[in-house]
Amino acid sequence: MDLGQWAAQNGTLVVAGAALLGLILIISLVATLRTKSARRLAQERHTSLFDNNTAAVATVDTKGAIERVNAAFVELSGYDEAQLQGIAFASLIAPDDRQRVLESLRDDSEHRPHSVESRLVHKDGLEVELEITSVPIVIGDRTFGTYQMARDLTQQRELERELESRALHDHLTGLANRSLFADRIRHALQRVRRSGHQVALLYMDLDRFKLVNDNAGHAAGDALLCEVAARLRNFVREGDTVARLGGDEFAILLEDVADAEEAETAAKRVVDLINEPFKVSGKAAYVGASVGVAVSTPDIESPEQLVRRADKAMYEAKRRGGYRYVPYTRDIDTGEIRLGDHLESELRRGLAAGELAVRYQPVVDLAGTQIVGVEALVRWNHPVHGLLPPSSFIPVAENAGLIIQLDRWVLEHSCRDIRRLLRQGVIQSRPFTLSVNLSSKHFEDEGLVDAVFGILTAEQFAAEYLQLEIKEDVVARGSEKIARLKSLGVTIAIDDFGMGDEPLGYLRDAMVDVLKVDRTFVMSLGGDRISTAVIRTILSLAEMHDLQVVIEGIEDPVQIEALRKMGGRLVQGFYFVAPVELDELEHLLTRGLAPAFIYQPGRRQGGGQEAPPETVGRG
Ligand code: C2E
Ligand code: CA
Ligand code: CA
Repeated sequence: MDLGQWAAQNGTLVVAGAALLGLILIISLVATLRTKSARRLAQERHTSLFDNNTAAVATVDTKGAIERVNAAFVELSGYDEAQLQGIAFASLIAPDDRQRVLESLRDDSEHRPHSVESRLVHKDGLEVELEITSVPIVIGDRTFGTYQMARDLTQQRELERELESRALHDHLTGLANRSLFADRIRHALQRVRRSGHQVALLYMDLDRFKLVNDNAGHAAGDALLCEVAARLRNFVREGDTVARLGGDEFAILLEDVADAEEAETAAKRVVDLINEPFKVSGKAAYVGASVGVAVSTPDIESPEQLVRRADKAMYEAKRRGGYRYVPYTRDIDTGEIRLGDHLESELRRGLAAGELAVRYQPVVDLAGTQIVGVEALVRWNHPVHGLLPPSSFIPVAENAGLIIQLDRWVLEHSCRDIRRLLRQGVIQSRPFTLSVNLSSKHFEDEGLVDAVFGILTAEQFAAEYLQLEIKEDVVARGSEKIARLKSLGVTIAIDDFGMGDEPLGYLRDAMVDVLKVDRTFVMSLGGDRISTAVIRTILSLAEMHDLQVVIEGIEDPVQIEALRKMGGRLVQGFYFVAPVELDELEHLLTRGLAPAFIYQPGRRQGGGQEAPPETVGRG
């Protein structure tokens, strides 16, 4: 068949085939054009999203160099695109934050976006707070770099700071409020404990303020309070804190005063300052100040205690007619607790309400000045009377039959606290001892040994860390019980050793491990021959029987020197640390005692401190 014949026979088929081929070509052409324009469209969209984004965006290559930036980035950084191209992205970041940003740039392993907060240094040198989100550019499974998208946090941060500041400051005067003030005192007291210097608190209440307020109106009253605030602020040194505690009550925390005299001089200046007439709505207004002064002493255990002392002294100033300052003294505090007949039921209530607290006083080894243990000392956080010492409620607890409950609570609570520190590795020196007091009434209780065993088990506290302090008067009669306690693995200390007139036979029977020497023997140590002789005797007795001795109530370096000469090693006392809260104990155990307390022969307390820096104001 020739071609003509074939064509004649299959003509229709050929035409149809050609048409189909054409159609296919057209379709594929259209499709190609479509993908091309779709791609261009996508490209354009992407470019538009990049260029017009209000967020600052930079593309950064895998080596961290900037490839492109958008207009927002140019504005944010202050550099133009040409200046930015090719430079390391991290070089724009504030030096302190650079490492973090570099890590974040590197961290694209997961192909997931992630953010860091950091500061960018603007061309003009100012820092801008940013949140930088790094988005990997991934095509297929290859990473080509990252988008760095920056969000300006400046406004948000300002708002946050503003809110924070409002929560801590008095609206009217801008001074610190109660909560910030308490915080400042807490920190100041912690510094005091570590360095041995003193702080003072002036508590001030205006005299005659009500008169001005009533006669001249509230607006005038407010203006006067602001003026008072300004005078006080002007008066103090940098680092001191002025607070308004409400109404016409103000307080000043003076950091670092040399002695009580310096605090009183400051109080006198404050009284004089407020005595100067004020100008309120064009007229002179006269008010006065009643100021109470309290200086930190080593036995201050909480900010509230210091405030309460200054407050009491302020009331005394008011009582004496105002326009004066009064320093706090113990006499002002007599009648501190007038719980009287209600004490017993109050204590019952306080126990149930969880108002008891435990403080820890470190036992320090003079060789190396290390903390080798603590004594748990109970306190009562009374809602009205503040922090009460055990002397004000232990005798009542003993008479009311509450002492067993109280002692056991202290045992339980302190085991829990110290076990936590042991688990956290905060306690490193070994051996370490938690020493807990047992009242003689409690010691005589039938259930004592079982109770101690029960608490050790429940609190999962290793018995070897626990020491029980008992009084001399019960030792002789209690030998069998002591043996049972010791079989649990705990050690026994005789508290206030040498105070009673008990025969000392028990020392031979290896019943006790530690003798604690009361502070009354220590008070005049160095001067008084008799107490020196008593301590010398106790130390040699202890050596003979292979017992440890802890000397309590060390308050100054003269005593330490005398003790060292006699061979005493373990001490407890305000010179090193007063009883402290668990937090502070944790801090002391982690950081160690302040260098000021590392013993150097012939140095006075706190003598290792630096001289205070040059200061302005307050003088
Ligand atoms: P203590 O067992 O002789 O405790 C030592 C006391 O001396 C503590 O008084 C401590 O704060 C104080 N102290 C430590 N160093 C110095 C110093 O350098 N100078 C001065 N002046 N004092 C210092 P605190 O805490 O007032 O306790 C008084 C007593 O109350 C304790 O005397 C103890 O007998 C009893 N006590 C405390 N906690 C408990 C407890 O949980 N149960 C029982 N039954 N009694 C407790
Ligand atoms: Ca004790
Ligand atoms: Ca004692």
